[in-house]
Amino acid sequence: TDSDAADEAVRTTCDDATTCKRFATSQGYWKDLHIHYFVRNVGERKAPEINRGYYARVKGVNLLLDEFIKKTECKCQIINLGAGLDTMFWRLKDENLLPQKLFEVDFPAVVAKKIHNIKTKPPLSKPIIDMHSTDSLLLDAHNLDSDRYCIVGADLRDISSLDEKLKKFHLNPELPTLLLSECVLVYMTPSQSSNLVHWAAETFHTAMFINYEQVNMSDRFGQVMIENLQRRQCTLAGVEICQSLDSQDRFLTTGWDHADALDMMTVYSMLPQQDVARIELLEFLDERELLQQLLQHYCICWASKDKLSLGLSQLGF
Ligand code: SAM
Repeated sequence: TDSDAADEAVRTTCDDATTCKRFATSQGYWKDLHIHYFVRNVGERKAPEINRGYYARVKGVNLLLDEFIKKTECKCQIINLGAGLDTMFWRLKDENLLPQKLFEVDFPAVVAKKIHNIKTKPPLSKPIIDMHSTDSLLLDAHNLDSDRYCIVGADLRDISSLDEKLKKFHLNPELPTLLLSECVLVYMTPSQSSNLVHWAAETFHTAMFINYEQVNMSDRFGQVMIENLQRRQCTLAGVEICQSLDSQDRFLTTGWDHADALDMMTVYSMLPQQDVARIELLEFLDERELLQQLLQHYCICWASKDKLSLGLSQLGF
């Protein structure tokens, strides 16, 4: 059906994200010691502004994520919504920042591909096995469940089944929880994404939500971004919510106590400047304006609620 085809197009966006990250890491923008197990070839060269855009995205999101983990001293859980082939588990393990449990959710077809890679590549599976205490590790074609890492196939638009699956794998509503959606909510309608955001606020009393997505889409540059995705049959159902940074209202009206949003141009200027100076020497960028335009069309929004008074509302750049 048309809607199956639309979902399939959305699933392929995960390959794009991983391919672009793979290329940028091959050029030295940041280190990812495990991404090549998911995408073997470095692939076609990407424009320098694309690489810098991914650098800002990865550094910006990781900065908030790592602050949350440190604030909770790893006594927390993470739920990566629409995780795709994200290598977060291995990075956090290597950096001694692993939460009590990391959950990842994506469409079953994407999860199956990720699990196949994990099963067939010991550098991916060994750390999972090492961190697991009993012999009850579940690793079949569609699910991974271990003490510290769980991957679930589910449709994020179906909240009751999402909730049921996560609870089956021992999601703990009492634990401080970080939810992350990186380029995911835009593929849902505003009501579907606000249901998801609302479910998160209802389920956890102490939590943070980090959302990275497109913003300011009503100008000419935004229209070109939309057309590019539509050409590949991707329906950006949530694009109307990306009109401005007011999209943080989505959090304040769905049960979150505090919300902040910054466009990526601002985030880029607030990242550790020594590292920014290093990556700016990697490739020559002749049109800085193009980078600025690109960065102005993405944003990070983060929201929190903090019954345990951990100080989550202070987290930021
Ligand atoms: N977050 C990853 C990253 O940044 O590398 C992947 C981003 S990719 C652009 C979007 C991901 O969201 C895809 O893996 C897609 O399958 C997933 N996704 C989108 N809509 C979804 C839904 N309704 N249910 C589950 N996963 C979904």
